[in-house]
Amino acid sequence: MTFESALKQLEKAANLINLDEKFLEKLKQPNKILEADINSYKAYRIQHNNLLGPYKGGIRFHPEVNLDEVKSLAFWMTFKCAVANLPLGGAKGGVSCNPKELIEEEIEEISKKYVQTFYKEIGPQKDIPAPDINTNSKIMDIMANEYEKLTGDKSKTTFTGKSLNNGGSEGREFATAQGGIFILQEKFPELDKFVIQGFGNAGMSAAKLLKNKKIIAVSDSKGAIYDGNGLDIDKLIEIKKQTGSILNYNAKKIDNLLELECDILIPAALENQITEKNADKIKSKIILELANGPTTPEADKILFKKDIIVIPDILANSGGVTVSYFEHLQNLNNEHWSLEEVNKKLKENILESYKDILEITKKYNCDLRTGAYIKSLEKLKTCMT
Ligand code: NAD
Repeated sequence: MTFESALKQLEKAANLINLDEKFLEKLKQPNKILEADINSYKAYRIQHNNLLGPYKGGIRFHPEVNLDEVKSLAFWMTFKCAVANLPLGGAKGGVSCNPKELIEEEIEEISKKYVQTFYKEIGPQKDIPAPDINTNSKIMDIMANEYEKLTGDKSKTTFTGKSLNNGGSEGREFATAQGGIFILQEKFPELDKFVIQGFGNAGMSAAKLLKNKKIIAVSDSKGAIYDGNGLDIDKLIEIKKQTGSILNYNAKKIDNLLELECDILIPAALENQITEKNADKIKSKIILELANGPTTPEADKILFKKDIIVIPDILANSGGVTVSYFEHLQNLNNEHWSLEEVNKKLKENILESYKDILEITKKYNCDLRTGAYIKSLEKLKTCMT
């Protein structure tokens, strides 16, 4: 999805509540675009909006990272933090490298250079990065340590998604998936048959948390597998970890898993997966968007007509940033919360947001995505000057 189409999601909600034109224009543009070259790659940090608090958002390492994509991802963070009632703004970062073609030392060097390039623009009161595609707790540790070296700040409050023994939070690894799954467990407990696109942090965590359900198909960047009786998730995770691909699991290889008949489809990979070209062929009852931007506005219209419920990214995957915020709070207060405490707070928070959004959808007769944008706009409006 282009940044232009991401804006359509906002405009739809803004029109329904007659949002002030000037305020809408302000929300459309990022406050700051930072660009640099790191080795031979393009590197970005885009700070979209900080009306609610310090900028917050992940850093992606992927060959397709570009200005338009990072702008969209930063934009979604502003609304996601508002939906989750967090005192945080929206930002995103990225480097256009392909970590799969790099050795560990090169990835480490890029991570350190990223911080050397942007460290004056980030910080606990300014901008707090986190992991995203192809970045993880190990990379956050490298970045946090580099930041400490450059600034002398030992508080560990500038990066979230760190490892547990470096100030990370219990539950952060699973949080993106866990939040969305709390919604499913509470609202759609009877639904049983799942398809998951993407098998990294978000997708694999979802599969682990759904172990008592039937997961009939999963995919990663190399392909997709299918078993109508349900895949053995423990075995699949073991194989993915050992061989780097789900395709080594003994099941039927398929070309396209998005159009399979299932109860719940979970896109957990990249943007633009459900478009006007395939939306009509989707046969799931519910789509839980753990990925950011997997569905285009044109596809949204088709899915709405087909009565397919889309639990939108800015709500469905907000568990990640919510537990990142919990990590930040623990670091600030020198505390360590138990997994039970983290999950209890996450569950309460995300179900509260879902409830608010559902009420909005009834009031405006709109889909959940538009409802989520309205909820965030109501919150952002309180800071309008
Ligand atoms: P990741 O790097 O851990 O995993 C990405 C997965 O997607 C990998 O398994 C990869 O093989 C797979 N993939 C890539 N291209 C694919 C394709 N064309 N078809 C099928 N699979 C493909 O990244 P992640 O952190 O799990 O992020 C996945 C999505 O979740 C992204 O949209 C990200 O922005 C979003 N998200 C992540 C977090 C987080 O905390 N990690 C939080 C919110 C949202």
